[in-house]
Amino acid sequence: MKLKDIKLTNPYLELPELCYSRVEPKPLKKPFLIHVNSELADTLKIDVSDKEALTSFVNGELVLEGSDNFAMCYAGHQFGHFVPRLGDGRAINIGTVKDVNHINQHLQLKGAGQTLYSRSGDGRAVLRSSIREYLMSEAMHGLGIETTRALAIIGSEHSVYRQTWEKGSIVLRVSPSWVRFGTFEYFAHSKNFKELEALANYAINECYPHLNEEKDKYYHFFTEVMGKTARLMAQWQSIGFNHGVMNTDNMSVLGITIDYGPYAFLDDYDVNFVCNHTDKHARYSFGNQPRIGEWNLRALALALEPLVQKEHLEKVMTHYGRLYSRHFLYLMGRKLGLDEVSDNDFDFMKQMFGMLQSLHVDYTLFFRTLSRYNGERKELLKLGLFHTPMNEWLDEYDVRLEQNNTSQEERHKEMLKTNPKYVLKNYMLQEAIDQAEQGEFGLVDDLFKIAQDPYGEHKEFERWAGVTPDAFKNQKLSCSS
Ligand code: AMP
Ligand code: MG
Repeated sequence: MKLKDIKLTNPYLELPELCYSRVEPKPLKKPFLIHVNSELADTLKIDVSDKEALTSFVNGELVLEGSDNFAMCYAGHQFGHFVPRLGDGRAINIGTVKDVNHINQHLQLKGAGQTLYSRSGDGRAVLRSSIREYLMSEAMHGLGIETTRALAIIGSEHSVYRQTWEKGSIVLRVSPSWVRFGTFEYFAHSKNFKELEALANYAINECYPHLNEEKDKYYHFFTEVMGKTARLMAQWQSIGFNHGVMNTDNMSVLGITIDYGPYAFLDDYDVNFVCNHTDKHARYSFGNQPRIGEWNLRALALALEPLVQKEHLEKVMTHYGRLYSRHFLYLMGRKLGLDEVSDNDFDFMKQMFGMLQSLHVDYTLFFRTLSRYNGERKELLKLGLFHTPMNEWLDEYDVRLEQNNTSQEERHKEMLKTNPKYVLKNYMLQEAIDQAEQGEFGLVDDLFKIAQDPYGEHKEFERWAGVTPDAFKNQKLSCSS
């Protein structure tokens, strides 16, 4: 459907007025289109061929029928400390469309100016942070991890001040839900229980509609959020993704990855890696993520106490650890090409992580190389500082593979579909950003192609498939990234 013929709906505005505030986007000066996600446009049934109309749409200038713009109100625990009011400070919701699967997809402009919740912020997003969000959300989707996505990104001549003058940019983000743990915390903390219940009903309808008719639906809602969060944490750990800002306002009740900031894919495996420069106590280190997922769920549970008996919420939480481990075991088993896994495999996996950590092995390249392992160890041994620990672990692996029923050929085929050749490491994104800041967007296009198909060979992009150059390994980024 042509952009100008689209009719937007706004189910969130049916909630009580405390849940949001209306706001108009403030367009950027001299906007230009950087990239459009045509595959996503197809699933949203949006015709994006008119680039001028698209640019104006992303810049908040082209107003569609049914459009009623608003920012959502939420609270959140930031680095463990409760902040009673946050909210969309630089994101403006412009309405909802139905995708090809008849699912409501909420469109949001990130960087379109101040809202009631901007506090001291300018409501803008700079080019580098927009490129990071645009590419990374698509990369997560390409890896098969549920996430928000982005339909298009625009640049501009609009000056925005951070440490220095930069250029403003807007990403049109898309998600089946923007409800956060912190959205519930806002109403629980302010004792607005009517709104809390309305929000719970809304979130159930949006995220878990099969619960609508359940007797204890709020209890079941929490069970679902717990399960989805446990799965997401296992996915992040297995793929080597460090989110960096796991505040409760950055946790989706749908259990999908949201709000891309100073995230990183691991370069050399390091369980203690911290990608966020401001995270002085390593609260959101790579290895802490599953525990923080649990901590955040407890904060959500507290917010749900007016709706669900405390003992019931606590009972749900007792399942988190087991559920997380089950998902993680399954995902790691697939990465290792094991056709069945049991709790006995944890020791063998622990040994592997210890080996990767001590030998400073590139996490992604290790599994990709292992996906072609046929007993010949040369390529794998090259990845580590020393040979002995890798040899010892491979001896164990050889024995473990004997329990497989699948052939080597089948194992390789499955592993190559499970272990990506490419992940968007920060040094790659930085190169694309450096070029973009000079007005050259070719690398954004290239990295987008890799993001959409990380398991493909892409011979032309081979230089991105190797070890991260030493100078760029395991670096930290600032919160405004
Ligand atoms: P984040 O760290 O991106 O999750 O943001 C935390 C909170 O700060 C959210 O409420 C954001 O909307 C808000 N925020 C971050 N950057 C800005 C900005 N430049 N202008 C206004 N609000 C912002
Ligand atoms: Mg956020």
